[in-house]
Formats: sequence, C-alpha cells, structure tokens
Amino acid sequence: MSAEFAIEAREVCKVFGQGEHAVNALDDVSVAIRQGEFFTLLGPSGCGKTTLLRLIAGFESPTSGSIFLDGQDITDLPPNKRPVNTVFQSYALFPHLSVAENIGFGLQMLGRPKAEIAARTEEMLALVKLEALAVRKTAQLSGGQQQRVALARALAPRPKLLLLDEPLSALDLKLRKEMQGELKRLQCETGITFVFVTHDQEEALTMSDRVGVMSSGKILQIGPPRAIYAHPVNRFVADFIGETNFIPAQIVDGHAVLPGGVSLPMTGTHPAGPVTLAIRPEHLRLTDREGERALLATVSHSVYFGTDSHVHLRLADNTELIARLQMDAEGAGGPDPGAAVGVAFAPGAVQVLED
Ligand code: ATP
Repeated sequence: MSAEFAIEAREVCKVFGQGEHAVNALDDVSVAIRQGEFFTLLGPSGCGKTTLLRLIAGFESPTSGSIFLDGQDITDLPPNKRPVNTVFQSYALFPHLSVAENIGFGLQMLGRPKAEIAARTEEMLALVKLEALAVRKTAQLSGGQQQRVALARALAPRPKLLLLDEPLSALDLKLRKEMQGELKRLQCETGITFVFVTHDQEEALTMSDRVGVMSSGKILQIGPPRAIYAHPVNRFVADFIGETNFIPAQIVDGHAVLPGGVSLPMTGTHPAGPVTLAIRPEHLRLTDREGERALLATVSHSVYFGTDSHVHLRLADNTELIARLQMDAEGAGGPDPGAAVGVAFAPGAVQVLED
C-alpha cells in the first residue's frame, strides 16, 4: 500500500553561496503532495520553484530539512535511484534519434528487454498521439510535437512522480492552451502524480488539483484553485492570482469604514484598526450615487473585452478600482469617462487583509 502522500518536503531550507553572497532560495518550506495529484508550484521568477523541484529530483541537497517519497526519507538518495522523472522547458531531446528511440531511451538505460521497450514505446506513442511520426528525427518536429515526445519519454519508465519545469513556456499561446488540456488528460489517464512549475497564474488555476503559491523562498498558501482565488491569505496572493481591488479601511465596532466615510457591516470578527479590503473586479456593481452604502467614484476610462468591460474608477482619496461589467447583447453598458457613479458590493465578497 502506498502512503497518503507521494512526496513531502519537511522544513526544507536551501542556501546557495556563503556569507554576504548567501541566497536563501528556500526558507523553511513544508508541503505534502497527495498520490495522483496535479500539484502546481506557482510564483514569480526567482521565488524558489525550480530549486524545490531540483531538491525533489535529487539534483540538489537541502541545507536542512528532509524529502520523503511514499513515506520514505529519500533526502540522501541520488537522483538516478529515485522513481522520479523531469520534463524541462527545453525538452532536452536527442536530435539525432527518432521519436520512438527518444521515447524508449529511459527504458534502454534501465536495461529493460527489447520486446518490453518496443511495446511500451508503442503504448506511449498512442498516449501522446504521435504514432504516425515514430521514425522521424525529433529535430524535424514542431515545438508542440517535441513537447509530446518529451512527455512520452518521461512517462515511459512509469515514474511515481513526474516533475514539469515550465514545460509549456516555449510554445505560442494557442499551442500552450492545447497542451494544457493534453497534460491534464495524460495525468488523469496515467494516474501519476504531477508536480508542475509555472509563473503563469491562469495556467495554474486551469490545470491543478491544488496550487502552492510561492514568494521569496516561502510557500504562502496551499489549496485548490477556487479556494485560493476566493480566499487569498494575504495581499501578495490576492494580487498574484487574478485581479484584485485593494481598498484601505478602518475596522470600528465590527464595521469597515471606507474612504468617504461609508460604513459596511463585516462578516466574521476582525480586530479594530487599519485593514485592506480585497475585492475582485467581478464583485463590484455600479449604482447611482445616492445608492445606500455606495462608494462615490469617478469613471476614468473603460476597456472593452467583448463579453465584458473593465471600468476603471477613482475614489475621492485617489484609490483606483476596476469593476468588471457584463456587456449587453449590443455590447453597450459601460458608463462614459468622467461620469460620477456609486460603487457597491456585498459584504460577503470582501476579503479582509490585516495590514
Ligand atoms: P524562475 O521562474 O526564474 O526559474 P524560480 O522561482 O524557479 O525562478 P529558482 O531558480 O529556484 O527560482 O531560484 C531561487 C533563488 O535562488 C534565486 O534568487 C536564484 O538566483 C537563486 N539560485 C538558484 N540556483 C542557484 C545556484 N546554483 N547558485 C546560486 N544561487 C542560485
């Protein structure tokens, strides 16, 4: 029986360099990734995503802390002894070998019998839908086809864990979208645990069972995409995942007092003092200025997106907001620049971030 978690990092720190040149690439990171999960590490450039992946693969050792695979401590196990494979951004295919030879390469290295390699290669070619290109050299393939070969090669030895380091970033937008669906399908069909690294929040939200949001060597929040979007733990997460409006407020007697003196009853208990309210653009409504509990705003400009429009607003204290409005059938519905409007929202749509 396998353990509940496919891979776990426990209190992992990784320091590169020494003295004044030391970089804390990972700072006390703990994460437990479930069997068969599509888990994404999401964060801006330099936050430590690749370092964590390299520690899981065994290409680097932690400065402190441990890595567990299937409940076993593998911190000191060399990479070639770990049932883990990695797909890199660059694919790292062998250009002089055919598609089939590339896919069978890992099994050949493991000394598997010829018949088994042939059968497994056929299976993998079918899985990534490249049967027709089996004998072609990989140098003669498109970017998307090369990506499929890289995936098939990594999946062929049936790793327990597949690590994917920004594997789609070299593809154009249309192909990237197509491969996102393809990766999700491969993960469902094989049941293998995927740990995927990206700095693209949309990619993370659409593909993952759970996401770990990273910043400056720390994991700030772990959860399913919807939970992270709806309840970001702090300003960084709220800002990094989707668009968010931030409104300064004061908590007084269970109410949030907003710019202009509007007082909103809050759900939940919050200590008195300054806070920031985070509200998604789709939760703002425009009302007339006399509307009860409406913030008073002036329309700066609107950006039309076909199905909806982003209305940029400014409050009296210069706080800038964006409201996302659905367009009607004629594409009309946004107010004119300079218009004075009220801005309203349901208290339940507000996330209170303590300053
Ligand atoms: P990106 O999305 O740009 O690849 P990342 O989130 O994957 O970024 P890492 O590559 O893990 O970030 O790097 C984390 C930090 O550690 C960065 O400040 C980086 O410069 C530093 N770092 C990574 N590898 C080394 C190394 N071998 N020697 C020194 N510093 C390193």
